[in-house]
Amino acid sequence: MPHVVTRSCCNDANCVYACPVNCIHPTPDEPDFATAEMLYIDPKACVDCGACMTACPVGAIRPHTALGADQLPFLEINADFYTDGRDRGTVLAIPPAPLEVREGAPPRVAIVGSGPAAMYAADEVLTIPGATVDVYERLPVPYGLARFGVAPDHPDTRAVAETFDLIAAQDGFRLHLGVEIGRDLTHADLLADHDAVIYAVGASADRRLDLPGGAGTGTATEFVGWYNGHPDHTGHTFDLTRPRAVIIGNGNVALDVARILTLDPAALERTGISRDALAALRDSRIEEVVVLARRGPADSAFTSSELLGLKSVVNVVVEGDLTDPGGLGHTAARKLSLLTDLDEPGPGRRVVLRYHTTPTEITPEGVRIGDELLEAGLVLSSIGYRGRPVPDLPFDEATCTVPHENGRVRGTDRTYVTGWIKRGPNGFIGSNKTCARETVRTLVADFNTRVPTPA
Ligand code: NAP
Repeated sequence: MPHVVTRSCCNDANCVYACPVNCIHPTPDEPDFATAEMLYIDPKACVDCGACMTACPVGAIRPHTALGADQLPFLEINADFYTDGRDRGTVLAIPPAPLEVREGAPPRVAIVGSGPAAMYAADEVLTIPGATVDVYERLPVPYGLARFGVAPDHPDTRAVAETFDLIAAQDGFRLHLGVEIGRDLTHADLLADHDAVIYAVGASADRRLDLPGGAGTGTATEFVGWYNGHPDHTGHTFDLTRPRAVIIGNGNVALDVARILTLDPAALERTGISRDALAALRDSRIEEVVVLARRGPADSAFTSSELLGLKSVVNVVVEGDLTDPGGLGHTAARKLSLLTDLDEPGPGRRVVLRYHTTPTEITPEGVRIGDELLEAGLVLSSIGYRGRPVPDLPFDEATCTVPHENGRVRGTDRTYVTGWIKRGPNGFIGSNKTCARETVRTLVADFNTRVPTPA
C-alpha cells in the first residue's frame, strides 16, 4: 500500500532522508535530481510508514487510499519512474554531515533577500551552534516568491511559509524588513558587521521578447505580482474585456496565469488573491486563453504535475501534432501521453495549448503569426524571469547571474550567492535547499581557513 507524491512536490528532499527504506528518488546525490520535475515513491519498496508525509512541508505526499480523484494519475506517475530498469540501490541516502566550524567565534552571516533561497541558507547557517543570521528584505513582508510567486489557488505550496516561520523563530535569526542593500546599506556595511554576506536576491526582472510590440500588454511575471498583491505590481491594469488572451511561452508560470484567467472566480474567493485582482477577474470577459509554444508538445516547459492540475479545473485543448517522435526520455514521454489523453472539452472557458508557433508581431489587435492575426485583448509574454545586476558584485550579462564557484562570488571577499541569482531561474521552491547547502558549505570552509585554530 504505497504512499504517493503528488502535484505540490517542492523537491526539498526532506522526505528522502526521512524514508527508512530508500524508496524516494531521485535523491540529491543522484544525477537526475537537478532536472527532476518532482520526486517519486517506488510503490514496490514503500513500507507505508508515513515518515515521508511528516517530513513534507507542502502536503504533497499521501497514502494511495487517500488520493483525491485529481491525484489518482500520480499513482502511475510515481510507479512509472521506476520502470527504466535503473538500479537505485538499497543503501539509505546519507544526510549531509553537520557543519563544523573551528574553535572561536561562530559566524555572523548577512543574507540579502528573504525568499526560499535566503530562508534555506539561513536554516543551514543556523545549524552551527551560536551562529547568527541577519536577513535583509527590501519589502515590508518576507518570503519573496513563496508569498508573491505561488498561485493563490495552490495553498499547499504556499504552506511552505510555515516552514520558513519555524526557521525565522530559531535563536540567532534576525529579520530586517524594508531595508534595501545599495540604498539603505551598502555591501561594505554588511561586510563590516558580518563574517560573510550571502546574496539570495532571486531574478526579479523578466525576460523580454525581441519582436515588434515587445512584451505585449504585459508580462506574466507582472500579472502574477498583480494577483498576488506584490507592492511593485499593485498599480497594473490588464485588459480582460475581450474574449481571448494569449500567453507566449509555456512554462509553469504560463500555466498558472492561464489557470487564474480561466478558473471560476468563486474558486479564488477564499484564497490569498489580491482583492483588486479578484474584482477584475469577476468582471473578466475572457473565454479562451491560448498558450503559444515555439517548440512541440514533448518539449513543453511546464511540468506534467501542473498540466494535470490545469486539466482538473478547466477545459484544456491541444493544437499541435501529438505524434510520438520516438526516443523520448521519461519526462517528455509522460508529457506527450498526458497531452494525448485529454478529455473532450466541456462547457465553459478553455485553455488552448498551441505548438510550433512563433509570433512575429504583437499589435493592439492581438498577436500576428506570419499572415495570421490571432485576435486578443490581453497578450502576456511568459518567457522566464531574469536576474538583475547586484551592486558591487560581478555580473554575467549572458546568463543574468553572478559568476561564482560553488556559491563563492568570483573575485570578491567573503561574498556568496544562492538561489536564482546563482543558478538562473529554474527548479522549484525546495530546489533552493540543496543549492543553499552547497553555498553555506563553501562559506563555512572559507570561514574555517580564516578563524585561527587555537594552539
Ligand atoms: P520556464 O519554465 O523557463 O519557461 C519559459 C518558456 O518561455 C518556455 O516555454 C520557453 O520556450 C519560452 N521562451 C523562452 N524564450 C522565448 C522566446 N524568445 N520566444 C518564445 N518563447 C520563449 O519559465 P517560467 O515559466 O517563468 O518558470 C520559471 C521557473 O519557476 C521554472 O523552473 C518553473 O518550473 C518554476 N515554477 C514552478 C511552478 C510550480 O511548480 N507550480 C510555478 C511557477 C514557476 P523553450 O522551452 O522553447 O525555450
